[in-house]
Formats: sequence, C-alpha cells, structure tokens
Amino acid sequence: MHLNHPDIKEVLVTAEQIREKIQELAPKIDAFYADKDVLLVGILKGAVPFMADLSRAMQIPTKQDWMAVSSYGSGTVSSGVVRILKDLDTDVKDRNVLIVEDIIDSGLTLSWLTANLKARGAASVEIVTLLRKPDAAKVEIAVRWVGFDIPNEFVVGYGLDFNESYRSMDGVGILSPAVYS
Ligand code: 5GP
Ligand code: MG
Ligand code: MG
Repeated sequence: MHLNHPDIKEVLVTAEQIREKIQELAPKIDAFYADKDVLLVGILKGAVPFMADLSRAMQIPTKQDWMAVSSYGSGTVSSGVVRILKDLDTDVKDRNVLIVEDIIDSGLTLSWLTANLKARGAASVEIVTLLRKPDAAKVEIAVRWVGFDIPNEFVVGYGLDFNESYRSMDGVGILSPAVYS
C-alpha cells in the first residue's frame, strides 16, 4: 500500500528513505556482531517489516525470535508496566540479543524489556529502532542504532498501525486526525 493516501496528513519517511537507511545500518550491525552469534528479537507486530528488511540486508547469519508485549495503561499513554503476550521460544541465557523495534516513544517498554532479558542471563542486549520520538530522551535506555528521529506525532505505516490498519503502508506518515476523531 502506497503512502500517498488521503488518510495520511504528512509523509515523514518514504519507502526509498527506509531502504537507504537499512543499507546504512546493516553493515554497522554486521561489524558489531562480526565475532559473535546474534539473536534478533523482533517486537510484534510493528517490527515485522523492519525485521524482515533489516535481517535480509545483513550479511552475517542471524537467529530470529519474536515477542509480543503490551503495556498496561489507558489509551495511548504507556505506563511502563509491561505484560508479555507472547514470550520468546529461545532461552536467551548467554546469548547476544538485538531487540528490533519499530518505534520508541516514552521508552518505557524497551527499558522494561531490556532489564527483563538481562535478568534471564543474556550476554548482551542492544536495541535497533527504526523510529524514535523526542520523549525517548527522558529515560535511560541505550539505543545503539536509530533510523530516524521524528516529531511527537502519531504515525502509521511500515508496520505501525492504527486499529490494525496501515501496517502495510510502504513508508511512514502522520495520520490525519479526521481518521480517529
Ligand atoms: P513506549 O516507547 O512509549 O513504551 O512505547 C512504544 C510502543 O508504542 C511502540 O512499540 C508502538 O507499539 C507504540 N507507539 C508509540 N508511538 C506510536 C505512534 O506514533 N504510532 C503507532 N502506531 N504506535 C506507536
Ligand atoms: Mg513496537
Ligand atoms: Mg499499535
């Protein structure tokens, strides 16, 4: 589905820009894990396109697993208390884990998840996110690789949804408020 759609108020990142960014990130991640085995942990469902494109752009072999989490709290505000909806199939003890995420907003979800995976005995836990919003700066999480810093707006596309729609859009844009009001 093309980003050029009437429900999109403003285009933030085009499909071409995402492709270029992934080509830039992949060799850096390859180099970081050159002498280690890496387990990519994609966060469902938003990270599905990014995981697929990033892992295929990487040249080192990877293993992949998925988690689904949901943060308690009302509406769009993240509370920092996270519930695991689908856990990993993999034991992460002594593994080098790279969390693959679509977007970091408050950072609370990833802050909790990083601590959780370290508590299971992961040898290392790093984060790559396609998008990051300004509030992420307020929490202490080390995000090693960021695709794009974006403004504090509700965005959809390239995995990101509104009511399960727009995930298949090829780029990222700001949803028109007319759609949700
Ligand atoms: P936080 O970093 O606040 O703990 O939560 C991040 C999660 O909230 C993301 O993984 C994503 O699921 C959701 N989220 C945050 N900002 C947006 C947004 O602008 N659009 C969409 N569709 N989801 C978002
Ligand atoms: Mg997510
Ligand atoms: Mg969502």
